[in-house]
Amino acid sequence: MTNSIRNCILIHYDEIAVKLGNRSWFEKQLAKNVKNQIKGLPFSSIKRFSARIFINDIDITKANQYMSKLSSVMGISSIHLMRDFKSEELDIKKNSLELLELEKDNFQTFKIFTKRQNKKFLKTSQELNAIVGEVICTKLNKKVDLKNPDIELRIELVEDRAFIGHQYNTGFGGLPVGCGENALSLISSGIDSPAASFKMLKRGVQLSYIHFHSAPATGKESIDNVKKIIDKLSEFQSSKKLFLVPFLDVQKEIMKKAPNKYWVILFRRAMIKLSCLIAKKINAKALVTGENVGQVASQTLSNINVISESANIPILRPLIGYNKKEIVNLATQIETYKISILPYEDCCGFFVPKHPETKAKIGHIKECEKDIKFDLESLSDNVIKKWSN
Ligand code: ATP
Ligand code: MG
Repeated sequence: MTNSIRNCILIHYDEIAVKLGNRSWFEKQLAKNVKNQIKGLPFSSIKRFSARIFINDIDITKANQYMSKLSSVMGISSIHLMRDFKSEELDIKKNSLELLELEKDNFQTFKIFTKRQNKKFLKTSQELNAIVGEVICTKLNKKVDLKNPDIELRIELVEDRAFIGHQYNTGFGGLPVGCGENALSLISSGIDSPAASFKMLKRGVQLSYIHFHSAPATGKESIDNVKKIIDKLSEFQSSKKLFLVPFLDVQKEIMKKAPNKYWVILFRRAMIKLSCLIAKKINAKALVTGENVGQVASQTLSNINVISESANIPILRPLIGYNKKEIVNLATQIETYKISILPYEDCCGFFVPKHPETKAKIGHIKECEKDIKFDLESLSDNVIKKWSN
């Protein structure tokens, strides 16, 4: 009987594998996210077994599309394009040779890497590496290099199947989005908040976004940029819920009543208060910001303290200890950087005084807030209403 060969994608994940108690729940969420991500591309089934996910009977001519889409699914550590057939030694040798023969002009040195989950298979991983390696050396006249090979052929023996391939992508790792409850991310069109959002998505947290704008005093660019950023971030989670808050009236009231050195802190506290109201309505358990100690005047520990005091849910600040360069590198990697550097007027930057307070005291700030009158509750209602229409 001939051994029929199928094309599949084999996915490895890292952190989920150690979550023994509720591993199956994490795996199901990951499989669901994988399915969502390859919507529109052909496959026969998605199966989970032996700490792997398999996408069966893919269209090999679209291999690059599967690979690039799956690279953005949080929780995945690597994605391998594989031939899948019954694990017979002869067929393993034959398929290994065929696959590497197709690449023979592109490599001189190679390595065989075998992972043997099926302990009933009669050869050990080392033995199989040697057997297949020998075939490639003699038939294709290539050399083994275990440290720095031009190509690595991977063989995985799982249950009674053999999976063989050399094309793979690495993923971001972390946890599948949807495993970590919901949070509301305060997103400006700057460099930091998109990177902060990414860090939380990578921890499995599902995000909604909120953006404050000062239109018509500032242009629409910040809104357009934020929409582009969220489109980019939606590659990592399917939802794109964005709450847009017209913030100019609140800012005008603050500017009318408070000394200008406090404006930015008061703007931030109003943003946080309004975000908490919205978070409560959408069942978000925390806020996320791109704040970072010492980066700008508003981000001293004293000011962060005063800003945090206005929240009644936790504010997560995943970039708090990052250097600017590290943030820029991350934003470049996730491709939000080039959108963030497009010109726009920031709703707070536009009104920033020359000497903002860097060591705010909660007593002074609360005293100022007594005179400032705005109805955040109805503003939050309007924002939600607008979104749901
Ligand atoms: P970013 O690059 O994210 O704009 P930043 O270094 O410019 O950050 P700030 O402008 O002080 O720092 O903002 C601190 C955080 O407050 C931002 O990372 C973001 O989470 C939030 N934030 C600032 N402006 C807005 C806005 N207009 N809408 C929503 N959130 C905002
Ligand atoms: Mg900013």
